Amino acid sequence: MRLAIVGFGPRGLGALEALLRHGHGPISVDVFEPDPHPGAGPNFSPEEDPRCLLNLPLRDVKLPDPPNVSFPQFQEWVQEHDQNRFLPRAHLGAYLSARFSAVREALPDTFRLRILPHFVTYAGKGDDGAWVLNAGDKSFGPYDEVLLSLGQPDTIPDEQIARWRAHADRHRLPFLAAYPTEAVVAAAENWTDSVVGIRGLGLSTLDMISVLTLGRGGHMHAGRYIPSGREPATILPFSLDGMAPAPKPETAELAARFALDASEKETFRRLLAEALALDPDASVRHLAQTLLQPVARICGSDASEWIDTELINPGTQRGEDPVAALRRDIAIAAGDEPPSVGYTVGQIWRGWQPDLRRVLRNTPARADTRMAIVGFDTGLKRYSYGPPVEDARLLLALIEQGLVRLTVANDPDIELVPEGWRLDGRRTAGVMIDAVLPSAAFSSLDSKLIRGLAGRGAVRALADTAGVETVSDGQVVAADGITTRGMSMLGRLTEGSVIAADSIHDCFGMVADQWAKGMFERAVKPVSR
Ligand SMILES: Cc1cc2nc3c(=O)[nH]c(=O)nc-3n(C[C@H](O)[C@H](O)[C@H](O)COP(=O)(O)OP(=O)(O)OC[C@H]3O[C@@H](n4cnc5c(N)ncnc54)[C@H](O)[C@@H]3O)c2cc1C
Repeated sequence: MRLAIVGFGPRGLGALEALLRHGHGPISVDVFEPDPHPGAGPNFSPEEDPRCLLNLPLRDVKLPDPPNVSFPQFQEWVQEHDQNRFLPRAHLGAYLSARFSAVREALPDTFRLRILPHFVTYAGKGDDGAWVLNAGDKSFGPYDEVLLSLGQPDTIPDEQIARWRAHADRHRLPFLAAYPTEAVVAAAENWTDSVVGIRGLGLSTLDMISVLTLGRGGHMHAGRYIPSGREPATILPFSLDGMAPAPKPETAELAARFALDASEKETFRRLLAEALALDPDASVRHLAQTLLQPVARICGSDASEWIDTELINPGTQRGEDPVAALRRDIAIAAGDEPPSVGYTVGQIWRGWQPDLRRVLRNTPARADTRMAIVGFDTGLKRYSYGPPVEDARLLLALIEQGLVRLTVANDPDIELVPEGWRLDGRRTAGVMIDAVLPSAAFSSLDSKLIRGLAGRGAVRALADTAGVETVSDGQVVAADGITTRGMSMLGRLTEGSVIAADSIHDCFGMVADQWAKGMFERAVKPVSR
């Protein structure tokens, strides 16, 4: 068996471990990864700023053990005893890199592995039906199987970003992407008198705020932010509603309040399977019903009205001032206030992610129904994918200090002026950071590799707003609706065929196992295509 893995972040490592779990017989694997830390990927780069924290506490990072070597779990490896801490993402990257080295050292003699530090731009089939890859002017192969685990490739800038980039160029205004943070860290040296706008109000925005404040020498003391004087004059994170995401429960005991009982889990699995057979609206409505019973049990409230609003206008339930909402969510996360309906819904939904993943991946359903469920999941991320309480407390302290103002702004109200971006008719940011995660939609991808495969009919989109269509073992679906033998894709780019892929837990275990099993089964089947 000759295999190429293109992209070796955490998912590539998860795939390698799955090969070792399920493979037998000689195998030769070429890994294509230009990043200097194979196994870590850009989001957990060991070089990332230490103020960028994981979005899950240490107690929740549980990966299956590697199959060929004894290697500690993350908790033991970092030697951190406080299981409630949210560690820097760089620590997880260093762990994954070390884990990869250990797995590699212990490979059996029948397993040949090469790391090729190249960026692949072409994949196609040769005359003999085997796959060939190109990276620049170099050609590699032949391969029986190719796995694309590319993470998030470049995207075509949306209309707003394209216009803003031209504006920034014309007036020589700093306009930076949030990642890698290096560029922001370096540029921030010159921003002490600047008003910095941050587009988006998700987890990346909280990373940016930490980098621009704690990273500039400020610190927290007794719940207050003590500035260093090297921060920007003002930071204006903005979004359509100016609401910050709700922090996760602070301790394991507080998180346990949202645990589901066996019958609630069973009901969820059953209703999810039923929902996938319905049309989009009915499916989400059906699924949302599963929330009523556990919300009533946990916080003693009827969630019907909240859910009805979420189905029609996601995120408009609160009508609360963003700072008051942030204060309340911190109090809930710390156990100082009883959980609200929205907070409870989000935590329950988070508990369902493994089931969502498994059932959606393995159950046939219409593309529009899948996308409706993905849309509902995305809407709830403001609660289910929240930041550590410490990031939320920093944000609140900075607001109280007057250094940060949560801002409601959107086009067409954002005015482009020579000095920058006038956000809400009053405040003008002279520097702009884009902290909105690009879409995984096929139509917005700017990848020569994927475009080429699509041009030759080897892959297709699941739907307009979705990623690449794949089947349950990760094989891609061709333009004619039949799987393309030997070409698989896992991860974010397959959103719609999969859900909840943006997590370290999706990179290891079930998903990678299904791919590896599928691939080894194909190896013993006659080639039909
Ligand atoms: C800012 C940010 C923070 C996040 N924080 C968390 C978190 O705290 N917890 C969590 O569970 N998840 C988090 N995630 C989700 C995270 O992305 C996934 O958990 C995980 O990194 C996905 O791994 P991956 O291998 O699929 O993709 P990536 O980690 O992106 O790795 C893909 C790799 O493919 C390589 N590659 C791409 N194209 C090519 C090509 N053509 N040729 C060769 N190589 C190629 C890239 O160099 C890269 O190393 C975060 C995501 C982002 C964007």
